[in-house]
Amino acid sequence: MHAKPTVLVAGAGIGGLTAALAVRLQGFPVTVLERRTSLRIETSGTGVTIWSNATSALAALGLGDEVLRAGVPIQQSRLVTERDVPVIHTPVQEYTHPGSIPGVTIARGALARVLTDACEQAGVVIRFSANITEHRSDGDQVTVRLEDGTELTGGALVGADGLRSRTAARILPDTDPVYTGVTTYRGVSDTDCGVPPGTVHLFQGRHGVNGGAWHIGGGRVTWTVGHPAPPGGQDAPGTRRARILELIDGFQGPPQCLVRNTPQDRLLRTDLYYCDWYDRWGQGPVTLLGDAAHAVTTVLGQGACQAIEDAVVLGDELGAAPGDPVAALRSYERVRRERVRSVRDTIFKVASAPRVDNRLLRPLFLRLTRHFATRNQEAMWRDLQQPPRLHATPAPDVVAQP
Ligand SMILES: Cc1cc2nc3c(=O)[nH]c(=O)nc-3n(C[C@H](O)[C@H](O)[C@H](O)COP(=O)(O)OP(=O)(O)OC[C@H]3O[C@@H](n4cnc5c(N)ncnc54)[C@H](O)[C@@H]3O)c2cc1C
Repeated sequence: MHAKPTVLVAGAGIGGLTAALAVRLQGFPVTVLERRTSLRIETSGTGVTIWSNATSALAALGLGDEVLRAGVPIQQSRLVTERDVPVIHTPVQEYTHPGSIPGVTIARGALARVLTDACEQAGVVIRFSANITEHRSDGDQVTVRLEDGTELTGGALVGADGLRSRTAARILPDTDPVYTGVTTYRGVSDTDCGVPPGTVHLFQGRHGVNGGAWHIGGGRVTWTVGHPAPPGGQDAPGTRRARILELIDGFQGPPQCLVRNTPQDRLLRTDLYYCDWYDRWGQGPVTLLGDAAHAVTTVLGQGACQAIEDAVVLGDELGAAPGDPVAALRSYERVRRERVRSVRDTIFKVASAPRVDNRLLRPLFLRLTRHFATRNQEAMWRDLQQPPRLHATPAPDVVAQP
């Protein structure tokens, strides 16, 4: 039997780290190349929702308990108005699949630590401060070149290098991201301001101002406040908090308290982008994964979840065809394109739902929203939270030798 070839992974984001682990657990040697430092990976960002479809995919890699410990299990989500009036209640935990584990709200850094530790224990090599400048394929081999001139060759390259992926740019004609029209402020408050653990608390005001808040452990709550704005906007130094408070002026409930209890240097601002749909995700021994293949908007919080699903399916397909990695990559792309397309359609449908700002018409509009959501949300959430179906569950405690 031939030795399994080395799999190179571009990027140590949530998708890249999960892919590295999933592939390593199938017995392939794996090297991850990440341009940032390990400290940056563990400290950047705020907190994310990792729904049951993705935590259950992580559980298939043996990380279920670790993820539930590092995050806060989700029971429900609720949407309220700027006056804190309930609009939609979603018992998301009831809409999970048999055998699944709950979703979690979790600090990005905590999830990165769980994944990095598991990768290191499984024998994945992670090289930080390793900026890939190009790759070239030669038959079933692929070589990446780093900024410092080092070259590494493997039997597959997984481009998990996110939005504006260099890997994608070399195999697809046009990968410029599309601006959603929305910029979002984010932060982590040390005080929970009445947001209950286990609840994804969403709020929707007028004129497109909306956001969310959820626990990430230790009594800390991460929050977002988004609003329509041109891309590339900046806040003058020291004015960011005032700007956010201006956007949520008059909001009742947690939002103002959360913003006031977040240190100035932890107030972040991010323009939100997504990618056009690509029908092709790979070529020869190269494939794409996560945001590099299919970045979506933040609505419904599925971007990282889909990257995790990709990663677990990729490992599964390589495990099912270890002697033909190129065929396994195409098979992975086929399986994932169908699922991601369906999730993406749901996201865009929800994101394009109409908005009514008129004070007189809004109560009627909110009643209709509640009516339609109550009728349709169970089917939608059950579909979103469907974990990937795998050929086989890898045995995480037994890493096959390459
Ligand atoms: C404000 C905001 C909130 C979000 N909230 C959620 C949420 O609640 N739930 C959810 O599921 N998703 C959420 N998302 C989406 C989620 O963040 C992304 O979908 C997810 O991070 C994608 O993971 P990835 O590994 O594919 O890419 P990334 O996380 O972008 O990782 C790519 C990695 O590749 C590295 N890299 C890039 N180029 C190179 C190179 N040339 N050489 C070496 N390394 C390179 C980068 O440094 C980075 O570490 C949110 C996104 C935003 C912006």
